[in-house]
Amino acid sequence: MLKIYNSLTKKTEVFTPIDKINNTVGVYSCGPTVYDYSHIGHGRKYVADNIIVRTLRYLGYKVKHVMNITDVGHLVSDADTGEDKLEKGAKKAGKTVWEVAEFFTRDFFEMLNLLKIFEADVFCKATEHIPEQIKQIERLFENGFAYDTAEAVYFDVSKFPSYKELFGQNLSEKIVGVREEVVTDTNKKNAQDFVLWFKAVGKYKDHTMRWESPWGTGFPGWHIECSAMSTKYLGEQFDIHTGGIDHLSIHHPNEIAQAEGASGKFPFVKYWIHHDFLTVDNKKMSKSLGNTYRVTEIKEKGYSPLALKYLYLLAHHSRPLNFTFEALDSAAKSLNKIYSAILNLQNSNIQNVLPDPNYRAEFLSAMEDDFNTPVALAVLWKTLKSDLDNSVKLVTILDFDKILGLGFFDVKPAQEKEYPERVRELITKREIARKERNWEEADKLREELKRVFNIEVKDN
Ligand SMILES: [Zn+2]
Repeated sequence: MLKIYNSLTKKTEVFTPIDKINNTVGVYSCGPTVYDYSHIGHGRKYVADNIIVRTLRYLGYKVKHVMNITDVGHLVSDADTGEDKLEKGAKKAGKTVWEVAEFFTRDFFEMLNLLKIFEADVFCKATEHIPEQIKQIERLFENGFAYDTAEAVYFDVSKFPSYKELFGQNLSEKIVGVREEVVTDTNKKNAQDFVLWFKAVGKYKDHTMRWESPWGTGFPGWHIECSAMSTKYLGEQFDIHTGGIDHLSIHHPNEIAQAEGASGKFPFVKYWIHHDFLTVDNKKMSKSLGNTYRVTEIKEKGYSPLALKYLYLLAHHSRPLNFTFEALDSAAKSLNKIYSAILNLQNSNIQNVLPDPNYRAEFLSAMEDDFNTPVALAVLWKTLKSDLDNSVKLVTILDFDKILGLGFFDVKPAQEKEYPERVRELITKREIARKERNWEEADKLREELKRVFNIEVKDN
């Protein structure tokens, strides 16, 4: 029985999908804003999303996982103020906003690849869904939630009474606090009203990304893409929405207000899941501290990105996690120990062998307890140290990796794994020569392997 801590109700609830008959589950994850490199803090969040999806799939649900790519320029602060992130990135790099977005989208996908995270079923770019966003704003007008000023189109939060208490917080205080220093549109009705559509006037008159709309040329506010695209791919109501805890106070309440205001259906999303942050040496990651590592940088330092993933999984996704290189060293050591254990177990014949039911049940009950990966890893170690028959042990931990994704299926003897292509080529050629009883050629290849690569070939 899967239990999920739901940030909306602030309770741990038993998971039941909306569509019980077909067992389908819709999952939407707030994706990256592609104006800068993805770093290990982002990596943690997307690994957590991936673990949720893998667990659901393991449990037999047919999951559709949708993730947005925010490639529309939007503002530096969540609260509709400040400079545009993409425009700023473009200026810095001397590129167009479109080039910047594409460059960092690729960087994001490379990170997902390094961490061996399944791709979501749908990656949707905000710039490719402008008509959907405009349509949702039109519906908000029809239902009386939107209004127009000379500068922008706003969502009127006074028409959506539950807005201020969403996620159990007092949003009115928070948001006014955030905006204190900011000069806002004097025609706004309420301080908390947020932008649905920016008009290319005033400080945005030179904004590069712009589209036509019923309210004039401009660009969407950055909250509307998520409610418009999730609705498009998962329907007006769906099961699970994930995101970082930074979205609790503005972005996610706005998504709910927009989606429910447009559809008239409640609730927009049944379960909301929030991931906590990664700190580095107990400090928030920041450019000025020089502690915003990218996953490729971790790899360049000689660590496997999967060791980083192992480190992520040592903490529950909804708790903070502190990254240090000592912790990464110890994660790498643990992971290598598991790999060695797998290597030792590989001689056993695993055909028709099933996972051990008791350890499997224990592992799953950890994962079903709000995706509790630290406990699941402890069960993995317990299984490795158990006196289970080798073949059953191997099959059981490989089964765990269907959820963990730590590369257990790829563990191979060093010979097959690490040698460069040229070495594998020479070894194959030599095997062929031996089969053909061409001893002279075989000896020549043996010598070359020894001379060039210092590899001793032993024949049984
Ligand atoms: Zn979002």
